[in-house]
Amino acid sequence: MPRFRIQIDQSLCSGFGSCVDSVPEAVRLDGPVASVHAETDSTGALDAAADCPMGAIAVFDADTGEQVA
Ligand code: SF4
Repeated sequence: MPRFRIQIDQSLCSGFGSCVDSVPEAVRLDGPVASVHAETDSTGALDAAADCPMGAIAVFDADTGEQVA
C-alpha cells in the first residue's frame, strides 16, 4: 500500500469539504479553505482528488513522488 501525499491548491479550493470526509486524518478545514496536515495510506486520498468539485487536489506517491491522482 503506497503512502499518499496530498497537495491542495488553495487558490482553487472553495471549502466544500468533501475532501475532509474522504481523508479526515490528512485534511482539515481550518477556515475558508482546506489544508493538508499529514500523509495517509488511505485510498480516500484518491477519492478526495476525484470528488473535489474544483479540481484543487493532486495526490502523489510519498515514496516515489509520482503523481497518482
Ligand atoms: S473538496 Fe476541494 S474545494 Fe472542497 S474543501 Fe476539499 S480541496 Fe477545497
